Amino acid sequence: PSYEYEQLRRRVTTNVGELWNYMGTELSKIEKSMRSEFEMQQSIKQMKNFMELAREHIRSLTTDLNTMKGADGYEAYRHKESKALSDLVQKRLHYLQNPSDCSTARKLVCKINKGCGFGCQLHHIVYCFIMAYATERTLILKSKGWRYHKGGWEEIYLPVSETCLDSDKGSQGTWPQQDVQVMSVPIIDSLNPRPSYLPLAIPADLAPRLTKLHGDPIAWWIGQLLKYILKPQPETLEMLENGKNKLGFKKPIVGVHVRRTDKVGTEASFHSLEEYMKGVDDYYDQLEMVEHVDKRRVYIASDDPKVIDEARRNYPQYEVIGDPEIAKVAAVSTRYTDSSLNGIMLDIDLLSKCDYLVCTFSSQVCRVAYEIMQTLYPDASSKFKSLDDIYYYGGQNAHNVISVMDHQPKSAEQIQIKTGDLIGIAGNHWNGFSKGKNARTNQNGLFPSFKVNNKVEVADFPTYSHVE
Ligand code: GDP
Repeated sequence: PSYEYEQLRRRVTTNVGELWNYMGTELSKIEKSMRSEFEMQQSIKQMKNFMELAREHIRSLTTDLNTMKGADGYEAYRHKESKALSDLVQKRLHYLQNPSDCSTARKLVCKINKGCGFGCQLHHIVYCFIMAYATERTLILKSKGWRYHKGGWEEIYLPVSETCLDSDKGSQGTWPQQDVQVMSVPIIDSLNPRPSYLPLAIPADLAPRLTKLHGDPIAWWIGQLLKYILKPQPETLEMLENGKNKLGFKKPIVGVHVRRTDKVGTEASFHSLEEYMKGVDDYYDQLEMVEHVDKRRVYIASDDPKVIDEARRNYPQYEVIGDPEIAKVAAVSTRYTDSSLNGIMLDIDLLSKCDYLVCTFSSQVCRVAYEIMQTLYPDASSKFKSLDDIYYYGGQNAHNVISVMDHQPKSAEQIQIKTGDLIGIAGNHWNGFSKGKNARTNQNGLFPSFKVNNKVEVADFPTYSHVE
């Protein structure tokens, strides 16, 4: 397929969703405003019927788009290309991580001492790995005393190198000292100066193929780095497999991640189980257009044990898979220790293996699951519904979108945009509008989400051309 075809196909798919976000939000506002008025009963009924049929319109269009994708003759290309790109990157990483002479190899030291949760720490390691890849240095993980497992990373996952784990010898320095053999990096938030190859940038040499293949190239790139580092030790693998079997995890299944406790009110808002389940229902309503669903199934991961019981109580038509015991451990303040490690590893593993994710992208747990998911399909960039943020990478450089249509503001909250404008995006309100700052006018406000395309950031990395 041509690059234009794949971009356009994904744009239509996304914007059918945006059309519903807009219509659905506006219509339910009207419906709600009518509810109290007795004489309006007739109109309410009409409105409900209208909304139901409109929903069916959207579902039918989405089904047709999916069917068209399956029948366009490019599915073989998508699978083949996805494997080829992944193999290429994995080979480069293997080359980088296994220098023939460790004593002379250039190294980048990454300490897993960031005071945060498991998802956050995985993202810290991935950031180090990007720095290592960009500076052609072997990544060395320093993980003794790791808060999730004092014995260190290598007791849980395979070492990130087969030949080179030692960084004590050779000249030592800190970023940006490039002339030393062993360079350490601080956490991404303190990095100075900040190179252009930090997320959301993808390697320029992969960009033409990757942007054609995938709807969210940065999530794919992060997923590939996670794929390399997250190779479980045999005991870890056994734990994950036993956990999966014990829970009765099987497909079709939608993964729901409900992040509560310390996150609510500090970094994210509260969302009721009902909001998540609405996303799950939408997924199954769509699926049932093309296949019979025997049992609607959800996998629920949470740091709030009440959520799983609530789901079992209030959604009897669902098979609810989840372990309140894991959530109980995750709910207490000692959770950033050994006692919770198995639970969070299992939850992330199973969430990533679900057909679809409903969660809040404000949580690194769900973002990690989404990133890993990208390694399991040619393009899983639309297999999620976030109740809050759009995808981001903690500590990322600016995220811009490019306007592909003009827009005249219809209210004081909206901003004017012209084709070609660069807009720094803050978020999608999931009601048809996104918020951002137009770089041309410096105006901050809302604009219709369908009038822009994502700007994929590209940066020069070494090309590893000698790696076959
Ligand atoms: P964030 O704080 O949600 O952005 O994600 P982090 O991974 O950085 O920190 C949250 C930590 O809380 C996780 O790493 C877990 O230790 C715990 N946690 C949060 N949600 C869950 C969950 O669904 N399951 C389990 N087992 N632990 C969770």
